[in-house]
Amino acid sequence: MSAPVLEVEDLRVRLRTPRGPADVVNGLSYSVGAGETVAVVGESGSGKSVSVLALLGLLPQGVATVTGRALLQGEDLLTMQPERLRQVRGPGAGMVFQDPMTSLNPVLTIGRQLVEGIRAHTDLDKAAARRRAADLLGEVGLPDPAGTLDRYPHELSGGMRQRVIIAIALSNSPALLIADEATTALDVTVQAQIIDLVEGLQAERGMGVVWITHDLGVVAGIADRVLVMYGGRCVEDGTVDDVLENPSHPYTRGLLGALPDLAQPAVDGVVPDLATVPGVPPAPTDLPKGCVFWPRCPVRGDARCETEQPPLAIIGSSDVALPHRAATWCTESPARAGSTAVSGTFGTGSPGTSGIESPRGRLR
Ligand code: SF4
Repeated sequence: MSAPVLEVEDLRVRLRTPRGPADVVNGLSYSVGAGETVAVVGESGSGKSVSVLALLGLLPQGVATVTGRALLQGEDLLTMQPERLRQVRGPGAGMVFQDPMTSLNPVLTIGRQLVEGIRAHTDLDKAAARRRAADLLGEVGLPDPAGTLDRYPHELSGGMRQRVIIAIALSNSPALLIADEATTALDVTVQAQIIDLVEGLQAERGMGVVWITHDLGVVAGIADRVLVMYGGRCVEDGTVDDVLENPSHPYTRGLLGALPDLAQPAVDGVVPDLATVPGVPPAPTDLPKGCVFWPRCPVRGDARCETEQPPLAIIGSSDVALPHRAATWCTESPARAGSTAVSGTFGTGSPGTSGIESPRGRLR
C-alpha cells in the first residue's frame, strides 16, 4: 500500500454546550492512502461530520477542544498555525459539502469564486486563473465552461452546482478530497453522475478520498474501506467486502438489516415493514458507560456490555494489511461464526422477515 496521505490517530472532539461538555468524537484512528476511498458511515449525530471539520480547523474557536494527531502528508493539521492551515486547505485537502447552494456565495459569479480560490494558492494572474477555472469546469463535465464562469449559482441546477463545488475543491490539485454527504441533496440519477465523476477524477489524479455518508448504497459503490461510527467511536472497520458481506458489530448488522429488500415479495399485496434499529443514538453530553451501543443492542449479554467499553479488536485473520475489526464483547456475530446472515433480532413489523442472506445484495 502507498504511504498514507492522511493518518488520524486518537482524534477526540469535545464541544462546550449549554448542557455541559459534549464528547462528539472519542478516539478515532484511521488512514487514507493515495488513490484510496475510505467511507465513514453512521447516523446523524454519530460524529462523522464533526470529525472531518475538526481535521481542517473548521469548528468554531472557543467552543471545540480537539486533541489527537492528524498527519496530512506528514504535517500535523491539529498543531498547525492558522495561517499554515489556510495554505494547506486547497492544495492539501479539498472539501465538498452536502448543500451546494449554501457552499457557494449567491452574489458572486461562479468564475469569481473559482478564480479567487485559484489565485489564493498560486501566482497565476487573473487571465490565467480564469483559463484554469474554465478548464476545471470542463473537467467536471459542465457544458459551456466559459459561459458558466459568468453565471450565478441560482442559474444552475443542483447537480451543476455540486460539479462547481467539486471544481473548486479540485482547483489546487489536493492530495485529499473530503466529501461530506456530497450526494445527499441530489436526486438518484445525479448522485450516480457525481459519484462517477469523483471516481474518474480520483483515478486520474490519485487523490485519497474520505467519503462521509449515511447511505450504504453509496458506500457499496465507491469505498475501498469502511469505518462505521456510533456515539463518536469507530465500532467496526475493514475493507468494503468485510464490512458489507460479514458485518460483525450489532449496529452495522442493524444498519444493513434496515435496508429495503427489493427482492422481498409482497404478501397478499402488503409489502413487509422495514426492520429498524430501535431507540435513538446517545446524546454526546450523556454517553452510556460501557459499550456505547448497549442501550439499543438486541444481543447484549456479556457482563461487560454495560460497564466496559470494548476495544476495537481484529476479527478473523490478522495476517492481512487491512484487518477487519469490531468493538463488541459479543462472540456470536455472523462473521465470527463464518456466516453472511444478518442478525434477525432487530425490530421489524413483520415477524419472520428479518433474517436476510448476503446483505450486500440489497445494495446492488
Ligand atoms: S459489547 Fe455488548 S452491548 Fe455492545 S454491541 Fe457488543 S453485545 Fe451489544
